[in-house]
Amino acid sequence: MMRIGHGYDVHPLVVGRDLILGGVKIPHGKGLLGHSDADALIHAICDACLGAVGLGDIGRHFPDSDAQYKNIDSRVLLRQVREQLRAKGYAAGNIDSTIIAQAPKLAPYVPQMIENIAADLGVARGDVNIKATTTERLGFTGREEGIAAHAVVLLIKTPLKKTSKKKSQTRERKTPARRRR
Ligand SMILES: [Zn+2]
Repeated sequence: MMRIGHGYDVHPLVVGRDLILGGVKIPHGKGLLGHSDADALIHAICDACLGAVGLGDIGRHFPDSDAQYKNIDSRVLLRQVREQLRAKGYAAGNIDSTIIAQAPKLAPYVPQMIENIAADLGVARGDVNIKATTTERLGFTGREEGIAAHAVVLLIKTPLKKTSKKKSQTRERKTPARRRR
């Protein structure tokens, strides 16, 4: 059994903040503004995961009115989301995502973003895809007023810990939840 989720997030770009995407601090004159570290990519992935299991969105689980989430590393939130998936009997299968930013060039930082997200969700690096695009200077991202991110995640049902003898005998192969490519 599989489930699918989608996430979308935007944060404004301002002077005096660090630019953090996919858990990577990227040198840039401006950074994303938010209650947390404003990591739009990880927020979109969290939302996709929560959406896939019908658990609402990141704002419901980590409200920005809560002081404990002030400037929090969003990777901590992603790991908490993974626990919520586990509690529902699901694990991430694969993730595809797109960051929309006019600047800076993100390609050099994508491998480390993949490393971070794969580690936090407990999947192989090959199961995390991150694309970066501009909007050809159109719109708020094109004017460098903000950065947006989209994510789609597929979740795979994890086997129940306790299975009957009959069932466990017939299960010859491991669950594809942790498959490696
Ligand atoms: Zn956000």
